[in-house]
Amino acid sequence: MSERKTVLITGASRGIGAETARLFAEKGYTVGLNYCRSQERAEALAEELRAMGAPVGLYRADVSDRGQVDRMTADFLGDFGRIDVLVCSAGIARQELFTDVTESAWREMLGVNLDGVFHCCQAALPDMIRRKSGRIVTLSSMWGQVGASCEVAYSAAKAGVIGLTKALAKELGPSGITVNCVAPGVIETEMNGQLSQETREALAEETPLERLGTPREVAETIWFLTSGAGSFFTGQVLAPNGGFII
Ligand code: NDP
Repeated sequence: MSERKTVLITGASRGIGAETARLFAEKGYTVGLNYCRSQERAEALAEELRAMGAPVGLYRADVSDRGQVDRMTADFLGDFGRIDVLVCSAGIARQELFTDVTESAWREMLGVNLDGVFHCCQAALPDMIRRKSGRIVTLSSMWGQVGASCEVAYSAAKAGVIGLTKALAKELGPSGITVNCVAPGVIETEMNGQLSQETREALAEETPLERLGTPREVAETIWFLTSGAGSFFTGQVLAPNGGFII
């Protein structure tokens, strides 16, 4: 069993989840990396974090599948004994007209982005409630706050994440567990890889700070909410978005 604090991060093979894993490893945490399809990248990140001296566990699971999430959580608890922090960063996005959204595309969007958070929180909570301690951070999006044209399913799922976070925070406060949400603006990751240079420039222009955000800036926000400095925050939505929505 590890004496270090532990964090389990979903969607840690790339982007915001991977950068969050690096930051928690720097802070001395034992890190559980969840991935779904990007095995090689998850393995490379695990090696990178181990070279920094962090104990690392690697867990393949599709967060939309309850059975896989339950197995991942049981494996993590078997490896490291407890879950101090859960970060739900796994997510997918797609741009299409609402009238083109198929039933299966809708289910997939809600399945990964919203059911995934439900599954991971439910799986991690028995350990946190028993210890009367824990920090959960969910990832929404500014589109979950204000809605995006051509991203109705994504916006609905991410608005759902905010509702889940607020309600769960109220339910878990008496158990000594905080639940907060980070709702980023446009961040430089592969999720935005399909955007044209023109669109990226337009998005930067629309942002008062005149640029896109970095995964590190989101990771630092997540870290804040789980650190001592964030101990009186629960049920809150913090929005590293460069002022895109205010
Ligand atoms: P990326 O596309 O860079 O990475 C997505 C991550 O989610 C990957 O690690 C991927 O794993 C994982 N993932 C996808 N589907 C599943 C699944 N079914 N089960 C488990 N893991 C899965 O995205 P970002 O890092 O940019 O986004 C992270 C979070 O932040 C998401 O929830 C996103 O909605 C949110 N966000 C991002 C913004 C942005 O501009 N980038 C803005 C606002 C919010 P693998 O490759 O192994 O399948």
